[in-house]
Amino acid sequence: SKEQLLRVLNSIDGKGYKAYKELYGAYRLDYFTLYCDYIQGDPFASPSRVRIRVEHKKAAWPAELWSVKVRRIALEDFLARRVARAIRALGPRHRGTGKSGLLYIDSGGQEILPRTAMVISPEYIEIRLSLGLPARGRTILGREAAEMFLSDVPRIIEEGLLCRHARDLEEARHHVAVAEDQEALREQLRPAGLVAFVGNGSILPRRSGISQLPLPADKAIPFVSPPTLEVELQAPNAGRVRGMGIPQGITLIVGGGFHGKSTLLRALERGVYNHIPGDGRELVVTVPDAVKIRAEDGRRVEKVDISPFINNLPYGQNTEAFSTEEASGSTSQAANIMEALEIGTSLLLLDEDTSATNFMIRDHRMQQLVAKEKEPITPFIDRVKQLKELGISTIMVVGGSGDYFDVADTVIMMDAYVPRDVTAQAKEIAVKFVTHRQQEGGPFGRLRPRIPLKESFDPRRRGKTKIRAHGVEEITFGYEDIDLSYVEQLVDPSQTRAIGDIIRYLAERYCDNRRTLRELIQLVLEDINQKGLDIISPFYGQHPGDYALPRPQEIAAAINRLRTLKVVQ
Ligand code: ADP
Ligand code: MG
Repeated sequence: SKEQLLRVLNSIDGKGYKAYKELYGAYRLDYFTLYCDYIQGDPFASPSRVRIRVEHKKAAWPAELWSVKVRRIALEDFLARRVARAIRALGPRHRGTGKSGLLYIDSGGQEILPRTAMVISPEYIEIRLSLGLPARGRTILGREAAEMFLSDVPRIIEEGLLCRHARDLEEARHHVAVAEDQEALREQLRPAGLVAFVGNGSILPRRSGISQLPLPADKAIPFVSPPTLEVELQAPNAGRVRGMGIPQGITLIVGGGFHGKSTLLRALERGVYNHIPGDGRELVVTVPDAVKIRAEDGRRVEKVDISPFINNLPYGQNTEAFSTEEASGSTSQAANIMEALEIGTSLLLLDEDTSATNFMIRDHRMQQLVAKEKEPITPFIDRVKQLKELGISTIMVVGGSGDYFDVADTVIMMDAYVPRDVTAQAKEIAVKFVTHRQQEGGPFGRLRPRIPLKESFDPRRRGKTKIRAHGVEEITFGYEDIDLSYVEQLVDPSQTRAIGDIIRYLAERYCDNRRTLRELIQLVLEDINQKGLDIISPFYGQHPGDYALPRPQEIAAAINRLRTLKVVQ
């Protein structure tokens, strides 16, 4: 109870910081329960972790907003953002040394992702906060702590978590509706023969290379579909929406430099996730298993069959189980494709800006000069149709080579940010100017799934057990750093954090030197689906840490980049 909490804080006031450990436990304060799950060791250490639980009767959000999964995730997202806003509204809260007074909730960026910061169960809503327990130097400031628990926390719950006004409800309904619509639109893609949809009026460009916020309305040209590609889909809340449907098959995005090609492709990459209202990409959806493919020289590759793309390497290196500590541009791009096929994908996204030229094209003249026997690479252009026959579509940005006109089903030209359907012209040109290039490479071959070995994942090798994420782009796994900076559909540092612990979880629970990589990842995701994302945490049952759900594709990407990975093929 409140008295209990005050008594503890009184008794440790003025003592050394370690005395804060007496706070461990649960307290019933007013209408909510406070769980002190982790108490930091000093004011500079990572902050303390608490959970706060409120019953639905008090929170008062109507059940229709959280009883269905997609809605629940959206309402959780909405509430986490609202709590973050309430924390900001408190103003700067320095209450002493270091992190004293800090309050934090992991509320996410532009995407709506399942995350552990906010949990709506059938009985209650629980939020997970980080909190800096106040001290002057290492001396406990008990009064300041009491103010945090008895004034700051109740205020952010009041403002962030409770449904108090009609306009709270309206805002929540809108947030949930926007997410639900995106989910529904994405589900309509496949039955409609599409791989992506970009609604009319969408704002695709972002504020800058380092900001995912939309370019302001006075600078951005809204998206308008070319008439020939325009389709109508049915959103459960917004009703009929119109926009550009990108059909299954091979699609080129062409156009002059700076005309908006990469911007469109980047929006499609992120279309695997739902976006918050006001983002500009609320009506941009891509099939959920779409994978961005790029060159990534320097990455490690462990026994990947890249033989559809690379063969006859000098000195007879095997490319059916190709390993390297430092891949080249083309071998890394080939590995990225083969790994995407291994985990499962129905859409590849490529941009010439981030592709290896010799991987993408080999034109007639070069075929004449350098005989096929002397060129290990079978370019993507000779595989893209075979991939289509395997049910894998491709959308690619190519401003520099017309050779692809021969294989394309759809050609979209970006013209000063306005898309035009130029498929017919491109096909005419392909007939008029024959390239004379020869098709290279035989059949695509069969996919061989790889089986990771248990020893790959022991972070204690050489005595260090730490698994830790640094931003979106890096995981420290024992002594190894997993570099994820080129895994472009990883969008949230909490996804990266989750992947670190998913690898540990999968290694401890399922890796048996028999299951394939794909099976291992599926097993973890099934557990998460049934028991919640908390399940991957070493602190399951308490504040689990801040996680957001990654896709199987990004989990696989991280494992594939682990330098200690060992597999049998
Ligand atoms: P490309 O890949 O064709 O060379 P980009 O997609 O990189 O072109 O776009 C070039 C610039 O134009 C970027 O700064 C981008 O933010 C901006 N841009 C793209 N689309 C739009 C748009 N619809 N409205 C306004 N600016 C845009
Ligand atoms: Mg570009």
